[in-house]
Amino acid sequence: MARIFCIANQKGGVGKTTTTVNLAAGLAKVGQRVLMVDLDPQGNATMGSGVDKRQLKASIYDVLLESSSIAEARVTSDKLVAAGCSYDVLGANRELAGAEVELVDVERRERRLKSALAEVADDYDFILIDCPPSLSMLTLNGLCSAHGVLVPMQCEYFALEGLTDLINTIKQVRANMNKDLAVIGLLRVMFDPRITLQQQVSDQLKEHFTDKVFDTVIPRNVRLAEAPSYGVPGVVFDPASKGAQAYVAFAREMVARIAAL
Ligand code: ADP
Ligand code: MG
Repeated sequence: MARIFCIANQKGGVGKTTTTVNLAAGLAKVGQRVLMVDLDPQGNATMGSGVDKRQLKASIYDVLLESSSIAEARVTSDKLVAAGCSYDVLGANRELAGAEVELVDVERRERRLKSALAEVADDYDFILIDCPPSLSMLTLNGLCSAHGVLVPMQCEYFALEGLTDLINTIKQVRANMNKDLAVIGLLRVMFDPRITLQQQVSDQLKEHFTDKVFDTVIPRNVRLAEAPSYGVPGVVFDPASKGAQAYVAFAREMVARIAAL
């Protein structure tokens, strides 16, 4: 049965999507069966996985509105198959922005994704959900479905402030909707050790959150930023780059952590 993780942080531009697609590719590379779910109407994780969001026959939108199953809507990019690190994609596009409103009046609206994922959970070892930068009904669907949350964060001054809000939200979801939900870990991303402030924030994180901070650190690396324009994760685009290697190391760390749970 798949372990299901949300990649969440209500701030935009902190590396959620980059982490989702590269962790998916890294896990695939080390032999795990992975489904990547794009819960952001921007569809960046879809495009960054080699799937054209404008050409989707069915998307996460259809799944949330129960007009399609995940088995019907999931796709795999040929580019990733050719590279030997392929994972399935449940894609998103702008249509998803409308789901928020359309779900207002339906039953079990925050549990739609959970029910749909239950049908395919046996097909995968990991299901990764790329969340939008907000606490919307979409993110709530993600948090209700998941066993845990991965929080990518930049080691900057305000990062700690945002973290408190996110952790409070997760506590509320755990109390009211999903008792299994836990913060699996904080992932330091876009890290530049030459910047003293980043080193200081990193040290503070480890002091406060101890073993909740992943050992792997993702460096700032231009190859990771270039990869989306080629429609592949950095792990596929330039496997030898420091960024790609860090994400594969992170995938191994995740596999080890899950085995130890
Ligand atoms: P989010 O999904 O949280 O909005 P993204 O993953 O889209 O964030 O990342 C925001 C920007 O930062 C993107 O342009 C992305 O390519 C870039 N980026 C993310 N991680 C790295 C990294 N480790 N090194 C360099 N650029 C990165
Ligand atoms: Mg994103």
